[in-house]
Amino acid sequence: MRILLAGGAGYIGSHTAVCLLQAGHDVTIVDNYANSCPEAVRRIEQIAGRKADCFQADVKDRDTLLRIFREKPVDCVIHLAGLKAVGESVRNPIEYYRNNIDTTLSLLEVMRETGVHDFVFSSSATVYGEENPIPYLETMKKGSCSSPYGWTKSMMEQILTDAAAADPELSVVLLRYFNPIGAHPSGLIGEDPQGIPNNLMPYIAQVAVGRREHLTIFGDDYDTPDGTCRRDYIHVCDLAEGHRLAVEYAHEHRGVEIFNLGTGKPCSVLELVHAFEEASGVSIPYVIGPRRDGDLPQFWANADKARAVLGWQAGRGIGEMCRDTWNWQKNNPEGYRGGRI
Ligand code: NAD
Ligand code: UDP
Repeated sequence: MRILLAGGAGYIGSHTAVCLLQAGHDVTIVDNYANSCPEAVRRIEQIAGRKADCFQADVKDRDTLLRIFREKPVDCVIHLAGLKAVGESVRNPIEYYRNNIDTTLSLLEVMRETGVHDFVFSSSATVYGEENPIPYLETMKKGSCSSPYGWTKSMMEQILTDAAAADPELSVVLLRYFNPIGAHPSGLIGEDPQGIPNNLMPYIAQVAVGRREHLTIFGDDYDTPDGTCRRDYIHVCDLAEGHRLAVEYAHEHRGVEIFNLGTGKPCSVLELVHAFEEASGVSIPYVIGPRRDGDLPQFWANADKARAVLGWQAGRGIGEMCRDTWNWQKNNPEGYRGGRI
């Protein structure tokens, strides 16, 4: 199959591209490099030993998308192109709604025009909101999101659900990711945030490599076993494998299906820090700071459905996630460096 990865040069897209290329699929990457760079694509090809077709373009731009879909006919779209910084979305909601929702609409329109029916979407555990009990199950009602970023995901799920209800030929798989961390074991691709990292793992990795002095842990007075927040961290290569299976599932089915992609196991901030220290042999200085607005004390996935229906399971543990993150960070202390444009 030929699979178009919108946002395919980014963190999750690059690992997914490698996985798909290695499974024998053809890959088209469309990315405007708003949060990535061409060097990532070069490295995808280096790992996979095969070429991906890559277009630098804005996924909002329908005319350009149409040209790309016609030049390289597509069987399935994976939509990863989005802005994803929670705090930035609070400061700049309009940009987030414009980018995230328009990319989705443009893809749907061009798919309709070119007769492409299979769509896999990068959603997030954030759509469960604040109200649901843990662990989260796909059958739960979506909740109130704590940021415009979260609402874009919730709204895009609704748009895709409505589109599939109106078009019996459309197949939509909504993948609700939990907390992706880790990197490809080659150390060639990984997470490369611009500026100060918002997420825990890249922050720890930058402290380890000497780019930041210490980690601030946002609160140690939560009602959790060690007082720090707990999340369901999942290795990005397991996540990539979930996309490959979702593409195959989308091809065989119609309508909308939702899958949680998580390990089902919670891990606290302090546990992750200690696991990273053990995997890297580097000590991570930290201070305890105030709670961060909008953080939930804890959540994790019930991932039974993905196992039962897709045959998918997250096989890699926290130690491997830390080892592979460290391998990427120590080999690329400044990320892709001059590769950024
Ligand atoms: P990322 O920023 O590394 O990748 C997103 C890619 O999309 C980037 O390469 C960026 O340049 C590109 N992009 C953004 N807007 C674009 C546009 N208009 N046109 C073309 N390209 C555009 O982020 P990621 O971590 O790889 O996340 C991928 C997707 O998964 C995002 O939609 C994100 O919201 C979602 N997600 C991520 C996480 C996470 O923790 N990383 C969790 C849940 C969901
Ligand atoms: N966190 C932290 N310090 C940081 C970044 C994150 O203590 O510098 C905590 C954060 O409060 C949360 C957990 O780490 O409890 C995971 O945060 P992240 O932003 O990675 O994921 P999300 O909040 O989106 O689940």
